Amino acid sequence: MKKKLVIVGSGPAGLVCAFSACKNGIDASDILIIEREEELGGILKQCIHTGYLKTLTGTEFASRLIQKIKEKEIGYILNSSVISFDKDRVLTVVSPELGYTKIEADAIVLATGCREKSKGGLLIGGTRPAGIMSAGTAQRFVNIFGLMPGKRTVVVGTTELALIMARRLTLEGGHVLCVCDNKKSTIADKKYVKECIRDFNIPLKLSYSIRRIYGKERIEAVEICEVDKKGRVIKGTKQRLECDSLVYSCGYIPDSDLVRDAGIPIKKATKGPVTKKNLETDIEGVFVVGNALFIHASVDDIVKEGQEVGESVYKYISKKESQRKKAQEAEKK
Ligand SMILES: Cc1cc2nc3c(=O)[nH]c(=O)nc-3n(C[C@H](O)[C@H](O)[C@H](O)COP(=O)(O)OP(=O)(O)OC[C@H]3O[C@@H](n4cnc5c(N)ncnc54)[C@H](O)[C@@H]3O)c2cc1C
Repeated sequence: MKKKLVIVGSGPAGLVCAFSACKNGIDASDILIIEREEELGGILKQCIHTGYLKTLTGTEFASRLIQKIKEKEIGYILNSSVISFDKDRVLTVVSPELGYTKIEADAIVLATGCREKSKGGLLIGGTRPAGIMSAGTAQRFVNIFGLMPGKRTVVVGTTELALIMARRLTLEGGHVLCVCDNKKSTIADKKYVKECIRDFNIPLKLSYSIRRIYGKERIEAVEICEVDKKGRVIKGTKQRLECDSLVYSCGYIPDSDLVRDAGIPIKKATKGPVTKKNLETDIEGVFVVGNALFIHASVDDIVKEGQEVGESVYKYISKKESQRKKAQEAEKK
């Protein structure tokens, strides 16, 4: 199969970019979005809280973007993973529809999003039984599968996602024993602290650290204690909290597996690929957008960037086409 533009990932970055490329002049039938999940929309699908374009929920925002893609009849395949691509822009794809296949593209846009940092970064002593999960996994359990990850939960970390999940578990009838962080202030904006924590009387323990996890098959308790500026335990503050789940959120990093495998250099500061101003990588015709590039503060920024990359890709493809035509004409002469 050959396409002018292949977009990997169908979160807001990928969908906006596809729409923008089409609006700028690339024919919808020449665009293919490849998504590994069973629906379009990326992480937005599990974000049922408001805050997107100010008043929309993530799912509402996703349906608007998906509607635009469908109206324009832009092509997409689901349940399909891009496992690699090379410098000639040939992608290797595994898909139930197409099997193990190669797709040639004039341009590729990587919109693969981010992943959550792992709990390895938490440096907690003790065992690693069932019931310990990232906030994103807990969000998926509750919002997509309709399953509660636990009844008595300790939340570690004060990212917006951690606070949103503390509220979500409470609203679903769970008991959040506390949200704790070894820093003395929250990472999330004050608005989230008020709306997700204070308004629901969830104890917020700042300068508190989880030192130990107890439990064999399933988590049974954690040991929590107050720490000083240097992270040293303050005597007499140790406390055991009986719980059946621990939800952690340590932030995000760009999903850079594909770019790293393709040999594109990674920036130390962002952990995303090095790009030019127009977000094209070291491999000609391969662009990156959204959280795959760096972790954006808001989806609004991702939307703007998606529009810009759509335009850049259109310019790139048009330039290549006119160069090809000129070369063909020169050959005829
Ligand atoms: C667990 C989690 C929860 C979040 N919750 C919030 C929140 O509540 N509020 C908020 O503002 N932000 C949240 N974020 C941040 C969120 O990622 C961004 O707001 C936004 O969704 C990023 O858009 P994106 O298009 O760059 O990536 P994403 O929305 O992550 O989309 C990337 C898409 O690429 C697909 N993909 C990746 N690799 C491949 C491949 N090799 N082949 C095919 N498809 C692939 C993925 O399946 C995914 O659908 C969350 C992030 C995570 C990880």
